[in-house]
Amino acid sequence: MIQITLPDGSIKEFQRGSTPMDVAKSISEGFARNVISAKFNNNTIETSTQLNENGSLVLYTFNDAEGKKAFWHSSAHILAQAITSFYPNVKLTIGPAIDNGYYYDVDLGEETISEKDFTAIEKKMLEFAREKYVFKMREVSKKEALKFYRSQNNAYKVELIENLDDGDITFCDHADFTDLCRGGHIPNTGIIKAVKVTSAAGAYWRGDEKNNQLTRIYGISFPKQKMLTEYLELLEEAKKRDHRKLGKELELFAFSQKVGQGLPLWLPKGAALRERLEMFLKKAQKKAGYETVITPHIGQKELYITSGHYTKYGKDSFQPILTPKEGEEFLLKPMNCPHHCEIYNNKPYSYKDLPVRFAEFGTVYRYEQSGELHGLTRVRGFTQDDAHIFCTPDQLDEEFKSVIDLSLYVLRVLGFDNYTAQVSLRDKENSDKYIGSDENWRKAENAILNAANEKGLDYNVEYGEAAFYGPKLDFMIKDALGRSWQLGTIQVDYTLPERFDLTYKGSDNQLHRPIMIHRAPFGSMERFIAILIEHTGGKFPLWLTPEQVIILPISKKYQIYAEKVLHLIENSEIRALIDDRNEKTGRKIRDAELNKIPFMLIVGEQEENNGTVSVRKQGKGDIGTFTINEFVSFLNKEVNSTLEQF
Ligand SMILES: [Zn+2]
Ligand SMILES: [Zn+2]
Repeated sequence: MIQITLPDGSIKEFQRGSTPMDVAKSISEGFARNVISAKFNNNTIETSTQLNENGSLVLYTFNDAEGKKAFWHSSAHILAQAITSFYPNVKLTIGPAIDNGYYYDVDLGEETISEKDFTAIEKKMLEFAREKYVFKMREVSKKEALKFYRSQNNAYKVELIENLDDGDITFCDHADFTDLCRGGHIPNTGIIKAVKVTSAAGAYWRGDEKNNQLTRIYGISFPKQKMLTEYLELLEEAKKRDHRKLGKELELFAFSQKVGQGLPLWLPKGAALRERLEMFLKKAQKKAGYETVITPHIGQKELYITSGHYTKYGKDSFQPILTPKEGEEFLLKPMNCPHHCEIYNNKPYSYKDLPVRFAEFGTVYRYEQSGELHGLTRVRGFTQDDAHIFCTPDQLDEEFKSVIDLSLYVLRVLGFDNYTAQVSLRDKENSDKYIGSDENWRKAENAILNAANEKGLDYNVEYGEAAFYGPKLDFMIKDALGRSWQLGTIQVDYTLPERFDLTYKGSDNQLHRPIMIHRAPFGSMERFIAILIEHTGGKFPLWLTPEQVIILPISKKYQIYAEKVLHLIENSEIRALIDDRNEKTGRKIRDAELNKIPFMLIVGEQEENNGTVSVRKQGKGDIGTFTINEFVSFLNKEVNSTLEQF
């Protein structure tokens, strides 16, 4: 008999040679029907693998990330099988499962695959799936594996195998199809009920543009047709909300080939939006005791050698800027931290002066490959809502908690209600990987865990995910379409104070090192605004939206009254404009709706005579007639209902 430990801690006895599926069935037949993959002692195995020793077993269904991975990995085999049936000379390369589905990179030689071929491939995949093939793993020698792919003239697989150790190579067979594979499959292909080939694109072998160009075919599959339908609807909605599309339509930002790839240009409306976000955070930061600092966009190379950033960004990012003076080199700043350390070094501090909190909307520059650039989420120049807190070890707890408060405030006001936190701690078994004393690490890790507990955060702990210089907490948010984004990192750092020789005088009159906290609730303004655009579909909260009100005179005759209304409401800090085009009112309303302007004020003869406005709310229609004062107080109330104060 062997003893199997299950995730709930319970230990059950099974016959030696029992499989994960046997274990699943012992729990319940219903559960077993949904189990699609398993891990034994943290190694991915097949649900049919015989267990011959004691150990811990985790069983996964499609609801688990591991289950999806097995499902999509198995589907990638079926995709490859289908492609091979249409293109017998195809050379398969790699085909991993990804966050949403899977892809296969293939060399089609002279042939091509395009959208019109997708339906036939999908049909073939389903045909294969219905055969209920079982994936069978077998070990092969390196010699045998190389022989198999050399006979197919497949230099890609040969290259992959050459980099593997003999004794560590497995093939997977189903039907008459064989692939190089590490395992981790679903019990049989019959549970693949819905498939979609989503796109085909060019990709280089091993991501290197010096190599052959391959075709990357993306697919996704599900155990239920309904799940595929829902996924495709979500994809459609995501397309509509794509920040690159909405950014253009709402005139928020643009890119210019002349200025350079990955360097966003903020248009007036986008700049207004960003400015409001900055003001919102600045106001809260002021209340939380931050001081604003401003530092230049470049710094001497030496500065970043001291900070260690040169090692990280030097070679692979923008190259140093030279001056007429020989040997003088400057870097575009990749991080604000070194500058803030030097601000701290500007004067001596006593423990009574701490903590100090320096905040800056600091623009940093990092070179990203052109293929990696993506709208505002991946750019070459971006502004961080950065701040650095310098505190004593005794203050770390309180400081960490107040940074969490600030981050939660930001998430709440901006409507991100669905979030979790990830606490990244050190891997205790490899403690020499990290710098700083054990005691400091213990303090910092406890500070983060205490803060997370006290603030009632829903968090998970990842051991070994901490940076070498300190533990951290990240907020993971879910947007309106259920997609996850990482925002707002809070990071404890012992290294930079060391590297920059930062000190404060303690109550013992001796010099001590302060602890540094890096934090940025938005992360980068560019990326945050991209997420906000997609989360809201461009319908920003009223306090944030660049144009809150548009006044629509029903004809030229009421232009003067429209201007009077504009002046009165602008006096009350409401952002408004007049649509004075010579267009029908219906057309003006439609355009205002498309531009997602929250309120439309229609003015004509009756309104002018009574000193009123007829109000329409975007997406809702007519909400009645208001005097101008009534409308102003109504709007301010609406703003205050979404803009809670810190
Ligand atoms: Zn496989
Ligand atoms: Zn920093």
